[in-house]
Amino acid sequence: MTSGELRRPTERTCERCSREETWDVDVESWRIVVVDGERRVGNPYCVHEWDINGRFAPFDS
Ligand SMILES: [Zn+2]
Repeated sequence: MTSGELRRPTERTCERCSREETWDVDVESWRIVVVDGERRVGNPYCVHEWDINGRFAPFDS
């Protein structure tokens, strides 16, 4: 990792419904992970609680 580069999370999982997303650098947006052809969408009505909350901080905060 280059010094000074922001430490961005590249994947996240919802602790409530197990929704999984991965960061797409091309569109700069989260995309739903697909495992064995199944989209890991979790519960569409869930207020997602991502496992990266509170653990991720920008490099130069
Ligand atoms: Zn969720």
